[in-house]
Amino acid sequence: MVMGDLVNEVDVAVIGGGPGGYAAAFRCAELGLETVVVDAYKRLGGACLYEGCIPSKALLHVAAVVHEAERAKDFGVDFGEPRISLDPLRKWKTERVVGKLSRGLAGVAKAKGVQVVGGHAAFEDSRSLRIGGDEPQVIRFAHAVIATGSTPARLPGFPMSERVMDSTAALELSEIPERLLVIGGGYIGLELGQVYAALGSAVTMVEMTDGLLPGADRDLVQPLARRCEKLFAAIHLETKVTAIREISGGVEADLAGKGTERFDRVLVAVGRRAATDGLGLEHTKVRFDGRGVVTVDERCRTTDPAIYAVGDVTGEPMLAHRASRQGKVAGEAIAGRPVAYDNVAVPAVVFTDPEVAWCGLTEVQAAREGRAVKVAKSQWAASGRATTLGRSDGVTKLLADPESGRILGVGITGPGAGELIAEGALAIETALLAEDLALTIHAHPTLSESVMEAAESLFR
Ligand code: FAD
Ligand code: NAD
Repeated sequence: MVMGDLVNEVDVAVIGGGPGGYAAAFRCAELGLETVVVDAYKRLGGACLYEGCIPSKALLHVAAVVHEAERAKDFGVDFGEPRISLDPLRKWKTERVVGKLSRGLAGVAKAKGVQVVGGHAAFEDSRSLRIGGDEPQVIRFAHAVIATGSTPARLPGFPMSERVMDSTAALELSEIPERLLVIGGGYIGLELGQVYAALGSAVTMVEMTDGLLPGADRDLVQPLARRCEKLFAAIHLETKVTAIREISGGVEADLAGKGTERFDRVLVAVGRRAATDGLGLEHTKVRFDGRGVVTVDERCRTTDPAIYAVGDVTGEPMLAHRASRQGKVAGEAIAGRPVAYDNVAVPAVVFTDPEVAWCGLTEVQAAREGRAVKVAKSQWAASGRATTLGRSDGVTKLLADPESGRILGVGITGPGAGELIAEGALAIETALLAEDLALTIHAHPTLSESVMEAAESLFR
């Protein structure tokens, strides 16, 4: 510390105002701890609110409306071709959706007495942080929570530019390119690829593995893959982009084994990296791996006794709801409560058309671990509700323990799968048996009946 530094002493300093950071800060404040959040942008919400979950879901809602209007032609209702006005669309996403939620979070922080400081934070040692920017100061803390999140992974040798975008740039929607190359067939590539396709771009997707959404069960991905085959201009699996060149008015990309193609823009969506660069972790006892992922135990404690970590910076799964659960655990642990992050099911939802959602054990994982499971499926072709929606392309699947009948995993593909998976997460967390799901009355006609019907099929 240098003489003359402005020094702020607090019980808890949280670095990063995303869903992990603000959940930790709010819980600490509720439990009577004086808490400050330091965020580079002096705002709460993080990547999730400003460049992730929320703006992407706002745009996916627009895509869903476009798709529904197209499908309505099957019932004899023709809305005509959509006319997209980018300015009002951007304004709605930024002001009415993101802005509204941002103001809401600022209000909650104020009500709970959580101070938000703007600036880049770096550890000076295990008890103090130096904050740069407009409000330079040193914050001395009893405990700190690292919640710095993640940033888009880069492809070595492919510099980003106006035409070569990461997800943050793609969400700005500066234009609708005629031809868009999407590198990566994971969460972001699929969600934003569908957004741009609905807005009128011809989308080419390149994925290096042999299937979209690697890691998810193939039977869940299949209806989405079929839909993408219709929506996208091309999908190249087991393909890598080996070079990208900026040319006049566009970009030229070499697709290994598939020649050279011209695009107007490129979206690079090849994963995210934990954000620990420049955080001064070398001045603490916090241990992290070669990819910057901070090691934590079940109470979200790092290897430095005063420092906790939550969210994307602690590695996979990099999901907002997992970050906020960890944030609450860290807050309670700091306040001395007996608590652990012992969740067995983190629901995953890909908000595409159709949605793909799963939680707990997957069939791929069961096979890899040599674990015996009973698998039950209910195809939506037999569902009354799915038929009234004109959507028979869904499937609901349960994985149960063959001896006890305990529900170990749930997977759902179809419209609304992201909402339906909540029943699966509850079933797994509360150790329900397949019989419990089969005997619970599910309203008719709803898509949720498919969960009951899949469970019933185990007893036939
Ligand atoms: P973040 O939200 O990344 O917040 C970290 C904050 O820390 C940022 O504000 C950053 O500016 C700040 N920061 C970093 N370093 C410093 C420093 N040294 N000093 C000061 N401040 C710092 N997840 C879902 O669950 N559902 C979705 O639908 C979903 N959609 C997504 C869509 C996209 C396009 C993307 C990119 C991600 C999406 N995610 C989604 C993932 C989700 O955004 C992250 O899992 C979540 O934001 C992680 O929260 P976090 O608190 O760990 O960190
Ligand atoms: P991802 O890990 O989901 O997908 C990346 C894809 O890129 C993979 O399929 C991978 O095989 C492929 N890939 C990697 N290198 C490649 C290369 N050189 N060429 C071609 N393909 C390549 O990562 P993402 O889509 O960037 O998303 C990052 C993370 O953000 C997700 O893992 C998730 O945790 C989070 N996220 C969640 C949601 C949601 O919850 N709905 C939405 C968006 C993002």
